[in-house]
Amino acid sequence: MPEGPSLVILRELVQPFKGLHVLDAHGNSKIDKARLIGQRIVALRTWGKHFLIEFHGFSVRIHFLMFGSYCINERKDKPVRLSLGFARGRELNFYTCAVRYIERGLDQEYDWTGDVLSNTWDAAAARRKLRNMPDTLVCDALLDQNVFAGVGNIIKNEVLFRIRVHPLSTIGALPARKLSELVLQARQYSFEFLEWKKAFVLKQHWLAHTKRTCPRCNIPLTKAHLGTTNRRSFYCERCQVRYGASRLAPVKRARAGAASKRVKLS
Ligand SMILES: [Zn+2]
Repeated sequence: MPEGPSLVILRELVQPFKGLHVLDAHGNSKIDKARLIGQRIVALRTWGKHFLIEFHGFSVRIHFLMFGSYCINERKDKPVRLSLGFARGRELNFYTCAVRYIERGLDQEYDWTGDVLSNTWDAAAARRKLRNMPDTLVCDALLDQNVFAGVGNIIKNEVLFRIRVHPLSTIGALPARKLSELVLQARQYSFEFLEWKKAFVLKQHWLAHTKRTCPRCNIPLTKAHLGTTNRRSFYCERCQVRYGASRLAPVKRARAGAASKRVKLS
């Protein structure tokens, strides 16, 4: 699943489309595509994992789900969900994603202070939200888009490894210092992710995600699908401290070597 930093990269790449008029709109999305013809793009924005194309009076929201992808001025040999054509052959193509209209203004629709990569990110607000969910597992809290918009599974695994917190810890059991570290690193790691991804060196910086051995302890990492989100977690039972007695057991342990190979945008 594309995480927030990958959406920021997309947002930067498509800025030349700002101000252009849509001349063609097609694809197998069920939205009323005729509505887009003749409309001028006012802004291209992101909130967490949402890519937003803003027009006068409405916007298009694109969510890349698990395996979504895009092409700019190119096409893939697969059915396109939404294709927007512009003058001089320019086009934006989106695949395997969810598309819908947002009718109200984006500043009403979104709380920009909840996006970990936003200039207006509010760490204190994130800590407040976390304190209101004491029984939530940290592995679920990090993926909660109402708290950490843009954080995905890679960032979750790496942040928890970095701050030495076990994914089955509960939020309420974290010492205040660890809670602050969690909020700080969710943002910090997201910016590092962004820089590494731009430099095509993201994967070589992973310390826990998809790894077999703890680089601190030199013992095998545990891999399991944890929490209500049931996403893959990679963690060290020795150096990542489990705070609180979680009642939720691992839902399903993955077989060794069964890691998905189909991550398109990470
Ligand atoms: Zn370790």
